[in-house]
Amino acid sequence: MENVQVEIQCVRCRESHRLSYPNPQEILEDQLLRPVDTSRAAFWCKFCGCVFPCERQYVRRTDVQMLDQNQNHLDGIGYRIAFRCGQENCEAPVIVHTVRDVETSNGELRFQAVSRKVAASCQLNHTPTLINANTELLIVQVGGFEIANVHSL
Ligand SMILES: [Zn+2]
Ligand SMILES: [Zn+2]
Repeated sequence: MENVQVEIQCVRCRESHRLSYPNPQEILEDQLLRPVDTSRAAFWCKFCGCVFPCERQYVRRTDVQMLDQNQNHLDGIGYRIAFRCGQENCEAPVIVHTVRDVETSNGELRFQAVSRKVAASCQLNHTPTLINANTELLIVQVGGFEIANVHSL
């Protein structure tokens, strides 16, 4: 699994988001890099702002050695934004993944999410919940490993 990158393609604008995918040794050594305890996650495109259910067909693992120089950049930073479903009494989290080129503060991500009207469904597929200025957000940085492994659990 060395030299593998994860590529997530937007369903609307078709742009690709690339993230490094650590090798298994790095995964074992870093407690933070664990598979996601979730069965579904949305993906928020950094190019056009589209939010879509991130299904397996939009996630590709590519061997970096097969790419030319232009495609081989692993400078993206992945984020997981988790918040409570808006449905009454629902405890299931809503998970939205996104990728940015440079490190983005939690405040900046929240600002972008609110102004872009980012909304997604919880694990139980309830009506999408909109992020507003009062939504409690749990934001953590993630790697390609975590984004790519959402559906294999
Ligand atoms: Zn897009
Ligand atoms: Zn729900």
